[in-house]
Amino acid sequence: MANNQDSTFGSNIIYYCKDCDKIVDAKRVGRKYVFKCSVCGTKNVAFGTEKSIRAFFHIEKDDIAINKVVEVEKKEEKEEQIKG
Ligand SMILES: [Zn+2]
Repeated sequence: MANNQDSTFGSNIIYYCKDCDKIVDAKRVGRKYVFKCSVCGTKNVAFGTEKSIRAFFHIEKDDIAINKVVEVEKKEEKEEQIKG
């Protein structure tokens, strides 16, 4: 069930296009640590952890889609099975 993702740095890395001035999806260019913006196509893309990017570029939380983890309490019903 594991997805094989080409995660270079891990799952907490986001990409920020300086031309688009927002968080974008980026594709890695060659073997270098150069990323191409999937929106405008330039290589003026910074990357880093979400914390570092947000702090460096002063990005508000609304600009980033954050997956909120909702803790759901699962009530496990114990079913007693009588084997006879
Ligand atoms: Zn861009």
